[in-house]
Amino acid sequence: MVEPSKLKQVSNKVENENYAFRAYLKNHADLDQLDKQFLELHNELFLNYDCSKCRNCCIEYSASFEEEELSQVASFLNMTEEEFRDKYIENTFGGFELKATPCCFLKENGTCEIEACKPESCRSYPFTDKPERLLSLSSIVNSASICPVVFEMLERLKQEYRFKRRNKY
Ligand code: SF4
Ligand code: SF4
Repeated sequence: MVEPSKLKQVSNKVENENYAFRAYLKNHADLDQLDKQFLELHNELFLNYDCSKCRNCCIEYSASFEEEELSQVASFLNMTEEEFRDKYIENTFGGFELKATPCCFLKENGTCEIEACKPESCRSYPFTDKPERLLSLSSIVNSASICPVVFEMLERLKQEYRFKRRNKY
């Protein structure tokens, strides 16, 4: 697995290849079969991976919340929902996002200050165990430059599909 701190550099070298692989999968992969492959890789690779040693996703993205999650997190932080919204949240077209990137709830030791009630968007990232991944390949390719596990998944899938590699990293 690529070191989280080196992933940007490494993924830049295979960025074009990853986009070519995305196009290849679009044309050749079966939707259900690809979901099965992603799910197996997700379960295998995350099983022994310590995300607290990485946290690239918390550094690169802001957490986003469903409206009903706001009161839960506010309550966890002993705040009213209104106080929580004023201090941390900006309304965006798609919903409710933290104002801060990197995430202000990321602690120095790599743990999450709101771990017990972190939003579903954080729990689900990088979404590689969800159905219909064939329709979300662009975001998966983008995630390969942030998440070492996603990067490794694409490398393994290239082997499974015997995709002709163009670069070495
Ligand atoms: S809320 Fe927690 S898990 Fe979500 S981005 Fe922030 S630190 Fe990471
Ligand atoms: S989900 Fe991926 S990017 Fe986020 S901490 Fe785990 S390995 Fe790192």
